[in-house]
Amino acid sequence: GDFAQEVDTLVIGSGPGGYVAAIRAAQLGQKVTIVEKNSLGGVCLNVGCIPSKALIQAGHRAHLAKTSDDIGIMAENVTVDFDKVQEWKGSVVKKLTGGVEGLLKGNKVEIIRGEAYFSGEDSVKIMDEKSSSTYKFKNCIIATGSRPIELPSFKYTDRVINSTGALALKEVPKKMVVIGGGYIGIELTGAYANLGTEVTVLEGSKQILPGFEKQMAKLVEKKLKKNGVTFHTEAMAKGVEETDKGVKVTAEVKGEEQVIEADYVLVTVGRAPNTDELGLEGIGLDMTDRGLINVDNQCRTSVKNIYAIGDIVAGPALAHKASYEAKVAAEAISGEASVVDYLAIPAVCFSEPELATVGYTDKEAKDAGYDVKASKFPFAANGRALSLNDSDGFMKLITRKEDGLVIGAQIAGPNASDMIAEVGLAIEAGMTAEDIALTIHAHPSLGEITMEAAEVALGTPIHTM
Ligand code: FAD
Repeated sequence: GDFAQEVDTLVIGSGPGGYVAAIRAAQLGQKVTIVEKNSLGGVCLNVGCIPSKALIQAGHRAHLAKTSDDIGIMAENVTVDFDKVQEWKGSVVKKLTGGVEGLLKGNKVEIIRGEAYFSGEDSVKIMDEKSSSTYKFKNCIIATGSRPIELPSFKYTDRVINSTGALALKEVPKKMVVIGGGYIGIELTGAYANLGTEVTVLEGSKQILPGFEKQMAKLVEKKLKKNGVTFHTEAMAKGVEETDKGVKVTAEVKGEEQVIEADYVLVTVGRAPNTDELGLEGIGLDMTDRGLINVDNQCRTSVKNIYAIGDIVAGPALAHKASYEAKVAAEAISGEASVVDYLAIPAVCFSEPELATVGYTDKEAKDAGYDVKASKFPFAANGRALSLNDSDGFMKLITRKEDGLVIGAQIAGPNASDMIAEVGLAIEAGMTAEDIALTIHAHPSLGEITMEAAEVALGTPIHTM
């Protein structure tokens, strides 16, 4: 017999969507159960954001060690002990996933290991290796995330790898082909190029990093080229043949066929939502053709006690977007009036230089009918950037012409990922360029670039003409 157990709020998946939803729901007094079929922390903590940033940092350190002669630091025989790099990366992941488990337990969230499958509008079956049990819920938040898309002519093997495989390599490849120049492909390209791999990037469109403005993507391309990366844009990867030592990738580059040999081929051409094996057809949940779940502005699906957040709903597939929606969904279940507002969601590429954007670009703002001003300030005119020996890049602050309201920013430069937060806050708080310009920023700091861009908007910058 299979007697249904009763739970209040059931969260499926423990990535940055699921675990945050569970904690917020518990804070609001809900009795919460979370189910995870894999490791706590989801893609982000285990095989996404965190391990990729650790690998990028390892590459960055190795590269700096080899290339600091220009500031008088000479190091000979710099070597990479990749086992040790991987061990360190693993320890960072472990600290964070352990932290998530501690936080869930501390908030009295019940953790169930297993795979959930909808058996009705208010029930799921949860299966582990041994058994299957039914749980009836009052409310459910689906946060099952996404997985790498597999191209039919590039089935994943030990040599044809996705981002998860690329993060788990046991050696630094001599040569690697990367298919897809989106942010995941470009971040991993940068990490391995810095660790010594000769990388060739195949990108279908005319520009890498299509999510960012051309002049920003160009800075990254220039730096990667300097590190030995080859780019083929308007390139169609057609097939792969495995040899005893590696792979032979066939591609059509601007109409001409090319064969590129490498140790590995990394395919980063996008991600697919994990919504196809959840039994959602059975409960008639409203979905898009791409398998995304349709939700309202409280993340509620077409079934009113079921919510969906993160990579399985429309919008950028980013961890902070999943966590943001998580809080809204948990609060909606508690009857609060929270709704999503995506205007100030930042997007970052952890490349060199880092790229970050929030709110509108000037083109988007113009398309939306705003009369705008784009005010640019270069990192090269900032003392901190120069003393970091890292001054390639710029900030562009987007303000509304009539009143100086801050509505966006694009940053290319060191620590752009942190700097973008100040502009996000300005947008959220409805601040003007004058508000930023009147805020005293510590000297010397990269934050002064934001203040100076605001002064450019006002027409009174000190350190540029
Ligand atoms: P996920 O993190 O995918 O978690 C979903 C969880 O649900 C998984 O643990 C899965 O096992 C579980 N699950 C699925 N189905 C079931 C089921 N039926 N039953 C039980 N459990 C189930 N984003 C950023 O913002 N910044 C970055 O720097 C960044 N870097 C990235 C680098 C890489 C290499 C990759 C691949 C992604 C990166 N991302 C980054 C994207 C980010 O990882 C995702 O947007 C984020 O993890 C989505 O969170 P989520 O909660 O929706 O789903």
